[in-house]
Amino acid sequence: MADSENSKKGQYGDSKSLEEKEKKRKSESLDKEGDRVVQVEKDLSKLKIKEDIVPFDMKCPICQDKSRHPLTLPCGHTFCYLCIKGVYARQKVCALCRQAIPQHCIVSPPGTGEREEEEGRKTCWYYEAKSGGWWEYEERVRQELEIHYQSLQINNEDNQDDGQFVIYVSGFPYVVDFAKMIQYRQDKPNRSRRIKREKGVAEEGEELVRGVAGIPIAPSIRQDDN
Ligand SMILES: [Zn+2]
Ligand SMILES: [Zn+2]
Repeated sequence: MADSENSKKGQYGDSKSLEEKEKKRKSESLDKEGDRVVQVEKDLSKLKIKEDIVPFDMKCPICQDKSRHPLTLPCGHTFCYLCIKGVYARQKVCALCRQAIPQHCIVSPPGTGEREEEEGRKTCWYYEAKSGGWWEYEERVRQELEIHYQSLQINNEDNQDDGQFVIYVSGFPYVVDFAKMIQYRQDKPNRSRRIKREKGVAEEGEELVRGVAGIPIAPSIRQDDN
């Protein structure tokens, strides 16, 4: 009895040490790309605000995060602008009560495109507006762009990266190409728009910056700044 237990332990011990060896081998063979992915994932996980510190009435029911540039629909439900824009693109009804979303809510959102306060912010990311000027990226997208950009700078000595990656905006995949500094929706590659990164934070209401993520800066803010 004792012997068989010992032999079981022995077997268990052996398979465990094999497992350990395999783990070690795998971790040692992690190349730079692997390290980079891990780092990007770590950085991205920091972007999500902890749910328990977001007051219930500020939480977006779609992304479960703090509502960014919140948009309240005629039915009274509030979402991040980009979250409800994604819903509108697919079904045109409120994600909670299924009441129809009027087109103007999405196409001409009220001016809440002011920049959010962010400590230690060093860069701005913009994409070209269809009718001239630039839109600033929404906070979460912008932070994601910066993380990918930084990791590309760190890893560019081996030159294996083509500088392209995919981000999700309103639930649609967009290809961002840092070599050409363009972005396009993955299913519409011929409709690319220029993007740009600027060091420092430009003055809000600057002539060519129209707002954030397709939401114009409120007229009153513009006047104050002018
Ligand atoms: Zn949301
Ligand atoms: Zn609703």
